[in-house]
Amino acid sequence: MALTGIEIYKFLPKTNCKKCGFPTCLAFAMKLAQGQAELSKCPDVSEEAKQKLAAASRPPQRLVVIGAGERKIEAGGETVMFRHDKTFFHPAALVVKVKDTDPADQLSKTVKAVADYAVERVGMTFKIDGIAVENASKDAGKFAACAETVKASKMPMILMSTDPAAMAAALQKVGAERPAIYAATKGNIDKMIELAKQHKCPLAIKANGLEELAQLSEKAEAAGIEDLILDPGTRGFGDSLNALTQIRRLAIKKGFRPMGFPTITFPGEGASSLDEEAVRAAQYIAKYGNIVVLSTFEPAMIYPLITLRLNIYTDPQKPIQMSKGIYPIGAANEKSPFCVTTNFSLTYFTIAGELEATGVPSWLMVCDTEGLSVLTAWSAGKFDSEKIAKTVKELNAASKVAHKKLILPGKVAVLRGELEDELPDWKIMVGPMEAMDIGGWFKNNWN
Ligand code: SF4
Repeated sequence: MALTGIEIYKFLPKTNCKKCGFPTCLAFAMKLAQGQAELSKCPDVSEEAKQKLAAASRPPQRLVVIGAGERKIEAGGETVMFRHDKTFFHPAALVVKVKDTDPADQLSKTVKAVADYAVERVGMTFKIDGIAVENASKDAGKFAACAETVKASKMPMILMSTDPAAMAAALQKVGAERPAIYAATKGNIDKMIELAKQHKCPLAIKANGLEELAQLSEKAEAAGIEDLILDPGTRGFGDSLNALTQIRRLAIKKGFRPMGFPTITFPGEGASSLDEEAVRAAQYIAKYGNIVVLSTFEPAMIYPLITLRLNIYTDPQKPIQMSKGIYPIGAANEKSPFCVTTNFSLTYFTIAGELEATGVPSWLMVCDTEGLSVLTAWSAGKFDSEKIAKTVKELNAASKVAHKKLILPGKVAVLRGELEDELPDWKIMVGPMEAMDIGGWFKNNWN
């Protein structure tokens, strides 16, 4: 049973040394009780206390790892219901399904395309997280052969069959890669538990509703399986939202152990079109799917889902930032325009993209504004004339451009006068209000 903050406090060293990042042991104990801190942050806690607090300090949702190679899926490990409560830690894994009935050449092509898929966004590279192999043929040999083909890609795998014999055949070939076993059901759970224990693989449970899910989860945990994944069996928009929200709430708010595991979802099941599958997948990413298995490899569906996921899983307290610096856009030289902006990644990449589109090689100087965009940083006093002038001097901007003309974002035109005082040997120009107008602005203002 979960302990209260006061009960946990009794086991802590009570020195208030702050090494855990909290001002007092009591504050740390309160956060532990809420599942928002980890006991390991206190270096001085005794072994005896560690054992006693193990259950209380167990995260409300277990982090489950699928895969044994460099590419792994880390699902779960969340501690809050809403991102703004703290942050989410492990983005919903996007997995593409293949079938053991797919022709061999098509299967190899799809597996390679999925493994090679990579997109760049705001300076980060995103890939597909794994491949699910479905035993559509109902044939154990074909299933095992298909799993072996996927294994060559070194992608994390989810093996999909409710037939323990087929699952055993596939695990014989790929069990060492730590695939997830999907799924244990009311009818096969004993055999699936045996396989999960034998191969030390995570076990996904598929149930008919939450009550059955809790019973099967308890049974698997009692049998010694620690890494579980939950599928409540719902497939519609409303019932899935309801079930997944209840699972998350029971885990986070109530500390109900049988629901303290990541979930797996299948947006293509029951969807009448790819568009509908994409909308369902978006819902699962938002609330509360930890693994989203897509029915097919369709880049036009995957890219927006990756973008959505990025928006939800960035830490609201730590905006994605660029490093302070002067970046060349194209083959910039000493005659190139010299623009200034903030270090919010989305701002940087928007402006860099527009500058690139003009075909005019340019410089883009990024000031450290703690990840805020131009107007937000300006209103917070983090993007002012003093900061810009200091950055110009620190980065020796004069060594990049002989003309000493600096182009301010149009939205902070108000800084021009002060910046002229700070940088008397520079000419301060005011650029357009919107990045997309930079091409026209160059035509009219830059020779
Ligand atoms: Fe207390 Fe441990 Fe935190 Fe120090 S590190 S304040 S002893 S809980």
